[in-house]
Amino acid sequence: MTLDKTPASFQPPVRTLMGPGPSDVHPRVLQAMARPTIGHLDPAFIDMMDEIKQMLQYAFRTDNAMTMPISAPGSAGMEATFVNLVQPGDTVIVCQNGVFGGRMKENVLRCGATPVMVEDPWGRAVDVDKVEQALKAHPEASVLAFVHAETSTGARSDAEALCKLAQAHGCLTIVDAVTSLGGSELEVDAWGIDAIYSGSQKCLSVAPGLSPVSFSERALEKVRNRKHPVQSWFLDLNLVMGYWGAGAKRAYHHTAPVNALYGLHEGLVMLMEEGIENAWARHQRNHQALKAGLEAMGLRFVVPEDERLPQLNAVHIPEGVDDAAVRGRLLREFNLEIGAGLGDLAGKVWRIGLMGYASRRSNVLFCLSALESILVEMQAPIEKGVAVSAAMAALGEG
Ligand SMILES: *Cc1c(COP(=O)(O)O)cnc(C)c1O
Repeated sequence: MTLDKTPASFQPPVRTLMGPGPSDVHPRVLQAMARPTIGHLDPAFIDMMDEIKQMLQYAFRTDNAMTMPISAPGSAGMEATFVNLVQPGDTVIVCQNGVFGGRMKENVLRCGATPVMVEDPWGRAVDVDKVEQALKAHPEASVLAFVHAETSTGARSDAEALCKLAQAHGCLTIVDAVTSLGGSELEVDAWGIDAIYSGSQKCLSVAPGLSPVSFSERALEKVRNRKHPVQSWFLDLNLVMGYWGAGAKRAYHHTAPVNALYGLHEGLVMLMEEGIENAWARHQRNHQALKAGLEAMGLRFVVPEDERLPQLNAVHIPEGVDDAAVRGRLLREFNLEIGAGLGDLAGKVWRIGLMGYASRRSNVLFCLSALESILVEMQAPIEKGVAVSAAMAALGEG
């Protein structure tokens, strides 16, 4: 291959990331990632790994010993839960109310198991009654899998109720918490979640590429008693634990993404400094402000109020407004990224993320004023200035 010229160092534009992820990475995290690389079996590194595990237990609200980051993005965390807990011939109940439930189904099929789908409309929470019917109709099912925070629509499902149901029917649970961890209430132990995965780039304010996971003792029991070896060598928990497990006997499994883990460590330090309940409250407060501003402009939410995620705000695009034109102008003129709709919602909705470090007052006001100025210029019937005033009123600022 020939290059016309030697590329210069890549200088990314400085954006404000208010889409479905990645979200704004905190400057402290970026600084942490720039620190000198050390060996991944260096005693200093191993101490840091132990702290990451403890801080992830704090974030997930669990005592599960098997709590650690998978060295790959959220999709790998998803795959890790399925390949370890699902064996050929198993039946898995999979809830689908958006994009990510569909990926769970693909994982089940590739494990050689049978998915039983419980489908709900995009933009709604998983229907607990339908799940109960499916559990009753399929006593052979061994796992219930669902997405806690559906990033494709902004719907939050009742993870606590779903886990209680699964337990009553002798099923383990696999929960996608990629967008919920750090952004809204999540209780791994109190809710009895067996296997959970998340991502570094949504509400943890960390760069993409790592997937925190946690497995209960019940889940590990199942992994230990498998008849078939886990089909993925890289994601086989029995092997990963040799590297991430407790004690000094760390064995080489793969080279940990050293600097990426510095970043995760820093993001978790910041989460602990803030306090996780305060982080949840911050996401809620900023969501209320954004909501007030969006509704003042006449924009309607996709998800009913009591099923909404504070960190992912999906709103219908006003009649006659060109989706791509607005997002393009936000990016070019304001360096602001918001998300497009996926699947059936493509072209019909915007997804505005308020995740992690991006969930702050200044971003809410910035996004509202940028969006309002563009919509007003496009002749949308909006009274100038209403969005920011409504958001300020929601924040108790007049
Ligand atoms: C982002 C996301 C994923 C996938 O994470 P990647 O890091 O992109 O692989 C999975 N599930 C949900 C709900 C997500 O929002």
